[in-house]
Amino acid sequence: MTGDQLTVTSIVERAEKFHADREVVSRRSSGVTDRTTYGACARRARRLAGALSDLGVNEGDRVATLLWNQSEHLELYFAVPAMGAVIHTLNPRLFPDELAFIVEDAEDSVIVVDETLLEVFETFRSTYDFTHIIVVTHTGRAPAGTLDYESLVAGAEAADWPALDENSAAAMCYTSGTTGRPKGVVYSHRALVLHSLVAALPDQLAVSARDTVLPVVPMFHANAWGLPYAAALAGARLVLPGPRVDAESVLDLCSYEQVTMTAGVPTVWMAMLAALDNEPERWQLTELDRLIVGGSAVPRAMFEGFDRHGLTVVQAWGMTETAPLGAVCRLPSRLDQSNADEQYNYRARQGTATPLFHIRARDEDGNTIAWDDAAMGELEVRGPWVATGYHAGRGADSFTADGWFKTGDVVRIDPHGCIRICDRSKDLVKSGGEWISSVDLENKLMSHPAVSQAAVIAVPDNRWGERPLAVVARRPGTEVSADELRAHLAQEFAKWQLPDRFEFVDAIPCTATGKFKKTDLRTQFATV
Ligand code: AMP
Repeated sequence: MTGDQLTVTSIVERAEKFHADREVVSRRSSGVTDRTTYGACARRARRLAGALSDLGVNEGDRVATLLWNQSEHLELYFAVPAMGAVIHTLNPRLFPDELAFIVEDAEDSVIVVDETLLEVFETFRSTYDFTHIIVVTHTGRAPAGTLDYESLVAGAEAADWPALDENSAAAMCYTSGTTGRPKGVVYSHRALVLHSLVAALPDQLAVSARDTVLPVVPMFHANAWGLPYAAALAGARLVLPGPRVDAESVLDLCSYEQVTMTAGVPTVWMAMLAALDNEPERWQLTELDRLIVGGSAVPRAMFEGFDRHGLTVVQAWGMTETAPLGAVCRLPSRLDQSNADEQYNYRARQGTATPLFHIRARDEDGNTIAWDDAAMGELEVRGPWVATGYHAGRGADSFTADGWFKTGDVVRIDPHGCIRICDRSKDLVKSGGEWISSVDLENKLMSHPAVSQAAVIAVPDNRWGERPLAVVARRPGTEVSADELRAHLAQEFAKWQLPDRFEFVDAIPCTATGKFKKTDLRTQFATV
């Protein structure tokens, strides 16, 4: 074997040589749709790499992006890893303080910002000294003190791609921790290439040259689940929705662009289902073959609801630490003749591990559980696209001594290896696909002079999947209202992270070791 290195460059070159005419569509915030091709994106990526080198970006340097799903982001997905630098995608929904921490922690050099995200950028700009700020403008004028993306691309010489080690860093993404600061996950070239190959397999996400792929999942969330690279590798047409991902906008795009597959968190599809139920005839979705849904548990009602419209939902499970794809739930042929109830129950599971990805689950005593669909344990994983550590050595306790990553998801596994998430050992709330740390909220609440105890739990929510609920015990003789506590939290948390509900109690039940008994709280308040 010639032993060529598995690098993102090979994906970029393939897109350029073999899929040059395949379309890449970007819908802008204005509603205007721009059309380009993989060939043009790859050629522009060479010039972009030339421009970044001229600005002093070297191999290993981090290039931050604050962009939507748009063709410029794809160009950066191509250019930055292929030139040997590391693309670091920033989540504009984070609190300014978190963004400030993340860019500092990653030691980003250059940042590329979409014009429509400049307001977000301004909230943390002064905290960090980027070497250059590049702005993607749609009005044609970059603000003073910044560089214009288009002018840079137009004015630079095309770079030649350097030979790279497949184990070198290609991309980076931060994930929220249970407590404290977000942690950086660094993806190697090898991980991204193998992930793309496996994601494209028929029983996985099944990405082919005949597909038109619409990633609703943002390109700042774990590489948009690997779809941009898988699509470029396969030669699938790519439709990038920009900032507007409300149900009607996504349905319009699916219908107009004849999308065959799309992917995102349940919140998006809940809204989409409601829109379809309201106006079943409005959209032509005859080409739409599958909706990949993950990031949070997919309720059974969602499978049933989309089935009524002739649309197939496929559940997938993954994590930022796993690049992200780890499991996909496809109905096995042995269940073809089963009744609808059995089939729905199966499809509502998180699925079987993707090829080359290994799973096990261990109980609280550290014993590996049987695959009998009864025993429960924390899911542990390993594989070519599973992180072995976080950036700067953080979170070492998430990795076992024998090389497995502890997911914090509590699962049952059936005899065929199909997992079902039953609980979460990490103290987090996942709302609309974004994490909220219960512990951070609790600490901030307990810093209020009128609060003696505070526990934050996740409660089910039809729209967002989960929402935080705060259970608070006041200090004797003090008074504080829910609104006052919300204002107190708003000093450090984004609006969407604030609990919608506060329940005041005399005392919060605790375990023998002094931890809040959150299971009791969930039973008491989850359905109120
Ligand atoms: P993130 O790193 O933000 O992508 O979050 C990963 C976590 O999201 C997992 O550890 C799970 O807790 C949750 N998650 C992802 N996919 C699913 C799914 N299909 N069902 C339930 N939870 C999921």
